[in-house]
Amino acid sequence: MPDHDVDLLVIGAGSGGVRAARIAAQHGANVLVAEEYRVGGTCVIRGCVPKKLLVYASRFAADFEDAAGYGWTVGKPTFDWATLIANKDLEIARLEAAYTAALERAGARLVKTRAVLEDPHTVRLATGRTVRARHILIATGSSPSNGPAIPAIDQVISSNEAFDLTELPRRILIQGGGYIAMEFANIFAGLGSKVTIVYRGENILRGFDDDVRAHLRSEMEKRGITIVCGRTVTAVARAGRAFTATLSDKSTADVDKVMFALGRPPNVAGLGLEAAGVRLAKNGGIAVDEFSQTSVPSIYAIGDVTNRVNLTPVAIREGHAFADSVFGGRPTPVDHTEVPTAVFSDPEVGAIGLTEAQACERLASVDIYKTSFRPMREHLAGGDSRTFMKLVVDGKTDRVVGCHIVGPDAAEMIQLVGIAVKMKATKADFDAVMAVHPTAAEELVTMREKAFSAKRQAAE
Ligand SMILES: Cc1cc2nc3c(=O)[nH]c(=O)nc-3n(C[C@H](O)[C@H](O)[C@H](O)COP(=O)(O)OP(=O)(O)OC[C@H]3O[C@@H](n4cnc5c(N)ncnc54)[C@H](O)[C@@H]3O)c2cc1C
Repeated sequence: MPDHDVDLLVIGAGSGGVRAARIAAQHGANVLVAEEYRVGGTCVIRGCVPKKLLVYASRFAADFEDAAGYGWTVGKPTFDWATLIANKDLEIARLEAAYTAALERAGARLVKTRAVLEDPHTVRLATGRTVRARHILIATGSSPSNGPAIPAIDQVISSNEAFDLTELPRRILIQGGGYIAMEFANIFAGLGSKVTIVYRGENILRGFDDDVRAHLRSEMEKRGITIVCGRTVTAVARAGRAFTATLSDKSTADVDKVMFALGRPPNVAGLGLEAAGVRLAKNGGIAVDEFSQTSVPSIYAIGDVTNRVNLTPVAIREGHAFADSVFGGRPTPVDHTEVPTAVFSDPEVGAIGLTEAQACERLASVDIYKTSFRPMREHLAGGDSRTFMKLVVDGKTDRVVGCHIVGPDAAEMIQLVGIAVKMKATKADFDAVMAVHPTAAEELVTMREKAFSAKRQAAE
């Protein structure tokens, strides 16, 4: 009798778990996947996908307004939140079915239940059954932080609930300065809500280039979003169907909803990690090596639960690499450097590589090229929004080590710039490319004047 029931047990059918399970099964492994909620995980059910659908919905308002300058007469548009949410739910259900079918087609089996570790090879399912697995993959993702224990915290929503509100809040306060807070702020503002952002730091989007942070903030403020930095929400009190939020400076805001987007800790609680001997890293994620192997040789972990780079394509890449390494006979480490990323705010942000501050800290010589301009479409539309672009160049090698864009389609642009940056393209390579005219992206290959140049003295 074999000493294992399966070759691989995957805990969590999200972006990373589904990819790992499919590829491992295609390599011939006998795979079982345990999922406690819905197949597709955060990205499909309450993350990237529904978020992007809401982003699309929120941008029509500006399109209707801009159309007049181009000769269109549009009647007074009206918006129905319930229709949007119902259609979003249909699309999510379609995708969930597609993910489930893809797992089945690959030959992996799925059990809809919670799973926890008992030892390095045993997993207990909530159904009571235990499964012995040659390898275990933890792909349990992350969840919204609960936030501080302030009065009426139970009335505060996270991104999870924001996707399923029964009505559009007329006024919403969002606490948080990260990309999820920015995206929801712009979604609600685009749909007509009065939005206030409260963030304890000095400016939004910590970790992004400082010029990007300043530019996006000013663009969002132009759109009527109130951004309050250096403060926190200290209490929330119900006022009929609405709420009064009190801030750390004792000021108050009356709103219909309060949302916190304060980060996403890895889902490690109650997983049985101690029983199995799996160690955590300092940042609270499961500690893994470049092959996603944990401190226990038979147990691997991928995606948000490892708190490396918490993005869907990264979780997918890690899942694929795990399956190739363990079941495909092809050890595949994952490169977590220069990961392109986007914020689907309005305007969008696209970024890759070093910020100006990081480059100045790490490199002996740095050249900065930047530009800010009013995109062509704004002229007839009568808008005053501006696009910002910056290239960070290693002054010694001429390599483009960072690119930062704020403007329409920045996410699409940064995906392509990412190829050049990954290929170690130099500023001269960018300059050698003929511009595509008239586009906004042409600015990326036509920036000639250095905005800033810094050289550090060699260390004594
Ligand atoms: C609002 C929002 C917007 C986002 N937008 C983007 C974006 O635009 N681009 C991008 O790249 N990323 C985005 N992300 C991040 C992205 O969703 C995550 O990085 C990605 O989903 C991580 O994949 P994962 O496989 O690690 O975990 P998940 O996709 O979270 O999957 C984990 C799964 O494990 C299940 N699970 C947990 N514990 C157990 C257990 N004990 N037993 C059984 N099942 C369990 C969960 O139910 C879940 O289905 C967004 C996230 C949020 C919240």
